Amino acid sequence: MRDSVEPLTKYERSRKKMVETQIRARGITEARLLAAMERVPRHLFVSEAFSEKAYGDHPLPIGEGQTISQPYMVATMIDALDLQGEERVLEIGTGSGYQAAVLAELSAQVFTIERIPSLGTRARELLENLGYTNIAFRIGDGTIGWREASPFDAILVSAAAPKIPKALTEQLADGGRLAIPIGGSLSQVLKQVTRRGEALETRTVCGCVFVPLIGRDGWP
Ligand code: SAH
Repeated sequence: MRDSVEPLTKYERSRKKMVETQIRARGITEARLLAAMERVPRHLFVSEAFSEKAYGDHPLPIGEGQTISQPYMVATMIDALDLQGEERVLEIGTGSGYQAAVLAELSAQVFTIERIPSLGTRARELLENLGYTNIAFRIGDGTIGWREASPFDAILVSAAAPKIPKALTEQLADGGRLAIPIGGSLSQVLKQVTRRGEALETRTVCGCVFVPLIGRDGWP
Protein backbone atom coordinates (compact mmCIF):
# COMPACT_ATOMS: atom_id res chain seq x y z
CA MET A 1 0.00 0.00 0.00
CA ARG A 2 1.24 3.45 -0.87
CA ASP A 3 2.15 5.73 1.99
CA SER A 4 0.01 8.87 1.87
CA VAL A 5 3.06 11.15 1.79
CA GLU A 6 4.60 9.41 -1.23
CA PRO A 7 3.98 11.15 -4.55
CA LEU A 8 1.86 9.39 -7.17
CA THR A 9 3.80 7.45 -9.78
CA LYS A 10 3.70 8.56 -13.41
CA TYR A 11 1.17 5.86 -14.28
CA GLU A 12 -1.07 6.63 -11.30
CA ARG A 13 -1.19 10.25 -12.45
CA SER A 14 -2.04 9.17 -16.01
CA ARG A 15 -4.81 6.95 -14.66
CA LYS A 16 -6.37 9.70 -12.58
CA LYS A 17 -6.29 12.02 -15.59
CA MET A 18 -7.79 9.30 -17.82
CA VAL A 19 -10.70 8.83 -15.41
CA GLU A 20 -11.30 12.57 -15.00
CA THR A 21 -11.00 13.75 -18.59
CA GLN A 22 -12.20 10.75 -20.60
CA ILE A 23 -14.76 9.10 -18.35
CA ARG A 24 -16.17 11.39 -15.66
CA ALA A 25 -16.16 14.39 -18.03
CA ARG A 26 -18.30 12.39 -20.47
CA GLY A 27 -20.97 11.71 -17.91
CA ILE A 28 -20.11 8.41 -16.21
CA THR A 29 -20.45 9.09 -12.49
CA GLU A 30 -20.70 5.63 -10.85
CA ALA A 31 -18.15 6.03 -8.02
CA ARG A 32 -17.19 2.34 -7.73
CA LEU A 33 -16.55 2.10 -11.47
CA LEU A 34 -14.42 5.27 -11.54
CA ALA A 35 -12.41 4.05 -8.53
CA ALA A 36 -11.85 0.63 -10.12
CA MET A 37 -10.55 2.22 -13.30
CA GLU A 38 -8.24 4.37 -11.23
CA ARG A 39 -6.81 1.21 -9.65
CA VAL A 40 -6.33 -1.24 -12.55
CA PRO A 41 -2.84 -0.76 -14.09
CA ARG A 42 -3.90 -0.61 -17.76
CA HIS A 43 -0.27 -0.13 -18.96
CA LEU A 44 0.53 -3.71 -17.89
CA PHE A 45 -2.12 -5.10 -20.27
CA VAL A 46 -0.37 -3.82 -23.42
CA SER A 47 3.12 -4.62 -24.70
CA GLU A 48 5.96 -2.42 -23.42
CA ALA A 49 6.08 -0.63 -26.76
CA PHE A 50 2.64 0.81 -25.96
CA SER A 51 2.86 1.38 -22.18
CA GLU A 52 3.31 5.14 -22.62
CA LYS A 53 0.13 5.24 -24.72
CA ALA A 54 -1.91 2.97 -22.46
CA TYR A 55 -3.91 5.80 -20.85
CA GLY A 56 -4.70 7.57 -24.13
CA ASP A 57 -8.24 8.09 -25.42
CA HIS A 58 -8.15 5.24 -27.96
CA PRO A 59 -7.97 1.46 -28.40
CA LEU A 60 -4.53 -0.19 -28.76
CA PRO A 61 -3.29 -3.36 -30.48
CA ILE A 62 -2.72 -6.41 -28.26
CA GLY A 63 -1.45 -8.87 -30.91
CA GLU A 64 -3.24 -11.45 -33.11
CA GLY A 65 -5.05 -8.57 -34.86
CA GLN A 66 -7.07 -7.82 -31.69
CA THR A 67 -7.39 -4.64 -29.61
CA ILE A 68 -7.88 -3.48 -26.04
CA SER A 69 -10.91 -1.15 -26.13
CA GLN A 70 -10.74 2.60 -25.52
CA PRO A 71 -11.04 3.32 -21.77
CA TYR A 72 -14.34 5.18 -22.25
CA MET A 73 -15.84 2.22 -24.12
CA VAL A 74 -14.74 -0.15 -21.31
CA ALA A 75 -16.45 2.16 -18.81
CA THR A 76 -19.61 2.55 -20.93
CA MET A 77 -20.04 -1.21 -21.32
CA ILE A 78 -19.49 -1.94 -17.65
CA ASP A 79 -21.78 0.94 -16.66
CA ALA A 80 -24.54 -0.72 -18.72
CA LEU A 81 -24.26 -3.82 -16.48
CA ASP A 82 -25.16 -1.83 -13.35
CA LEU A 83 -22.97 -3.98 -11.07
CA GLN A 84 -23.55 -3.78 -7.31
CA GLY A 85 -20.79 -6.13 -6.13
CA GLU A 86 -22.41 -9.52 -5.63
CA GLU A 87 -22.84 -10.54 -9.27
CA ARG A 88 -21.52 -13.49 -11.24
CA VAL A 89 -20.38 -12.05 -14.55
CA LEU A 90 -19.60 -13.71 -17.89
CA GLU A 91 -17.22 -11.93 -20.26
CA ILE A 92 -16.80 -13.02 -23.90
CA GLY A 93 -13.45 -11.92 -25.39
CA THR A 94 -10.80 -11.88 -22.65
CA GLY A 95 -8.26 -10.27 -25.00
CA SER A 96 -5.65 -8.51 -22.86
CA GLY A 97 -7.58 -9.26 -19.66
CA TYR A 98 -7.98 -5.54 -18.83
CA GLN A 99 -11.77 -5.44 -18.85
CA ALA A 100 -11.85 -8.72 -16.87
CA ALA A 101 -9.76 -7.01 -14.18
CA VAL A 102 -12.16 -4.04 -13.95
CA LEU A 103 -15.12 -6.47 -13.81
CA ALA A 104 -13.37 -8.48 -11.07
CA GLU A 105 -13.00 -5.29 -9.00
CA LEU A 106 -16.76 -4.68 -9.22
CA SER A 107 -18.38 -8.12 -8.88
CA ALA A 108 -18.11 -11.37 -6.93
CA GLN A 109 -16.94 -13.72 -9.70
CA VAL A 110 -15.93 -13.30 -13.33
CA PHE A 111 -15.98 -16.06 -15.95
CA THR A 112 -14.06 -15.05 -19.07
CA ILE A 113 -13.76 -16.82 -22.43
CA GLU A 114 -11.22 -16.14 -25.21
CA ARG A 115 -11.03 -17.99 -28.54
CA ILE A 116 -7.33 -17.24 -29.27
CA PRO A 117 -5.23 -19.45 -26.94
CA SER A 118 -2.11 -17.21 -26.86
CA LEU A 119 -4.17 -14.20 -25.70
CA GLY A 120 -6.21 -16.17 -23.16
CA THR A 121 -3.08 -17.72 -21.65
CA ARG A 122 -1.21 -14.43 -21.41
CA ALA A 123 -4.19 -12.69 -19.80
CA ARG A 124 -4.56 -15.49 -17.26
CA GLU A 125 -0.89 -15.32 -16.24
CA LEU A 126 -1.03 -11.56 -15.82
CA LEU A 127 -4.29 -11.51 -13.85
CA GLU A 128 -3.07 -14.29 -11.56
CA ASN A 129 0.21 -12.42 -11.00
CA LEU A 130 -1.75 -9.28 -10.15
CA GLY A 131 -3.51 -11.28 -7.42
CA TYR A 132 -7.03 -11.67 -8.86
CA THR A 133 -8.56 -14.81 -7.39
CA ASN A 134 -12.17 -14.32 -8.57
CA ILE A 135 -11.65 -14.87 -12.30
CA ALA A 136 -12.19 -18.23 -14.04
CA PHE A 137 -10.71 -18.66 -17.52
CA ARG A 138 -11.69 -20.68 -20.56
CA ILE A 139 -10.31 -20.96 -24.10
CA GLY A 140 -13.06 -21.57 -26.63
CA ASP A 141 -16.07 -20.16 -28.47
CA GLY A 142 -17.87 -17.74 -26.17
CA THR A 143 -20.95 -17.50 -28.41
CA ILE A 144 -22.16 -20.73 -26.78
CA GLY A 145 -21.65 -19.24 -23.31
CA TRP A 146 -20.51 -21.23 -20.24
CA ARG A 147 -23.48 -23.43 -19.42
CA GLU A 148 -22.13 -25.15 -16.27
CA ALA A 149 -21.49 -21.79 -14.59
CA SER A 150 -24.82 -20.19 -15.62
CA PRO A 151 -27.05 -18.34 -14.85
CA PHE A 152 -25.13 -15.06 -14.90
CA ASP A 153 -26.32 -11.77 -13.42
CA ALA A 154 -24.43 -9.90 -16.11
CA ILE A 155 -22.85 -10.77 -19.46
CA LEU A 156 -20.45 -8.54 -21.38
CA VAL A 157 -19.46 -9.28 -24.97
CA SER A 158 -16.42 -7.29 -26.09
CA ALA A 159 -16.53 -8.25 -29.79
CA ALA A 160 -19.16 -7.35 -32.38
CA ALA A 161 -21.89 -9.84 -33.29
CA PRO A 162 -24.33 -9.92 -36.23
CA LYS A 163 -27.13 -10.77 -33.76
CA ILE A 164 -27.53 -11.61 -30.08
CA PRO A 165 -26.33 -15.22 -29.52
CA LYS A 166 -29.26 -17.24 -28.17
CA ALA A 167 -27.16 -19.16 -25.65
CA LEU A 168 -26.21 -15.90 -23.93
CA THR A 169 -29.76 -14.71 -23.28
CA GLU A 170 -30.64 -18.24 -22.14
CA GLN A 171 -27.77 -18.15 -19.63
CA LEU A 172 -28.79 -14.73 -18.29
CA ALA A 173 -30.53 -14.71 -14.88
CA ASP A 174 -33.96 -13.13 -14.52
CA GLY A 175 -33.32 -9.39 -14.13
CA GLY A 176 -29.78 -9.87 -15.50
CA ARG A 177 -28.13 -7.45 -17.95
CA LEU A 178 -26.24 -8.21 -21.19
CA ALA A 179 -24.09 -5.61 -22.99
CA ILE A 180 -23.18 -6.45 -26.58
CA PRO A 181 -22.14 -4.57 -29.75
CA ILE A 182 -24.46 -5.55 -32.64
CA GLY A 183 -24.01 -4.65 -36.30
CA GLY A 184 -21.82 -5.02 -39.38
CA SER A 185 -18.04 -5.14 -39.63
CA LEU A 186 -17.44 -1.37 -39.91
CA SER A 187 -19.58 -0.08 -37.07
CA GLN A 188 -22.12 -1.30 -34.55
CA VAL A 189 -24.41 -0.13 -31.79
CA LEU A 190 -23.94 -1.13 -28.18
CA LYS A 191 -27.11 -2.87 -26.97
CA GLN A 192 -28.14 -3.34 -23.35
CA VAL A 193 -30.50 -6.26 -22.92
CA THR A 194 -32.34 -6.95 -19.65
CA ARG A 195 -34.06 -10.27 -19.10
CA ARG A 196 -37.56 -10.08 -17.55
CA GLY A 197 -38.80 -13.65 -17.22
CA GLU A 198 -39.01 -14.94 -20.79
CA ALA A 199 -39.07 -11.41 -22.24
CA LEU A 200 -36.04 -9.35 -23.28
CA GLU A 201 -35.99 -5.59 -22.89
CA THR A 202 -33.52 -4.02 -25.33
CA ARG A 203 -32.09 -0.50 -25.35
CA THR A 204 -29.44 1.12 -27.59
CA VAL A 205 -26.65 2.75 -25.59
CA CYS A 206 -24.37 4.30 -28.26
CA GLY A 207 -22.50 3.69 -31.50
CA CYS A 208 -19.24 1.75 -31.33
CA VAL A 209 -16.58 -0.13 -33.31
CA PHE A 210 -15.37 -3.56 -32.17
CA VAL A 211 -13.40 -6.47 -33.66
CA PRO A 212 -15.69 -9.31 -34.86
CA LEU A 213 -17.10 -12.00 -32.60
CA ILE A 214 -16.12 -15.19 -34.41
CA GLY A 215 -17.91 -18.45 -33.66
CA ARG A 216 -21.03 -20.59 -33.99
CA ASP A 217 -23.42 -17.73 -33.24
CA GLY A 218 -21.12 -14.93 -34.43
CA TRP A 219 -19.27 -14.35 -37.71
CA PRO A 220 -17.82 -17.35 -39.58
N1 SAH B 1 -12.02 -7.18 -23.29
C1 SAH B 1 -10.80 -7.18 -24.05
C2 SAH B 1 -11.03 -6.74 -25.46
C3 SAH B 1 -10.60 -7.78 -26.39
S1 SAH B 1 -10.98 -7.57 -28.09
C4 SAH B 1 -9.71 -6.38 -23.36
O1 SAH B 1 -10.00 -5.75 -22.34
O2 SAH B 1 -8.58 -6.40 -23.82
C5 SAH B 1 -12.13 -8.89 -28.33
C6 SAH B 1 -11.61 -10.27 -28.08
O3 SAH B 1 -12.67 -11.18 -28.38
C7 SAH B 1 -10.44 -10.71 -28.95
O4 SAH B 1 -9.38 -11.11 -28.14
C8 SAH B 1 -11.01 -11.88 -29.76
O5 SAH B 1 -10.07 -12.91 -30.02
C9 SAH B 1 -12.12 -12.37 -28.85
N2 SAH B 1 -13.17 -13.17 -29.48
C10 SAH B 1 -13.72 -13.04 -30.71
N3 SAH B 1 -14.68 -13.97 -30.91
C11 SAH B 1 -14.74 -14.72 -29.77
C12 SAH B 1 -15.52 -15.84 -29.35
N4 SAH B 1 -16.46 -16.39 -30.12
N5 SAH B 1 -15.30 -16.34 -28.12
C13 SAH B 1 -14.36 -15.81 -27.29
N6 SAH B 1 -13.58 -14.76 -27.64
C14 SAH B 1 -13.77 -14.22 -28.87
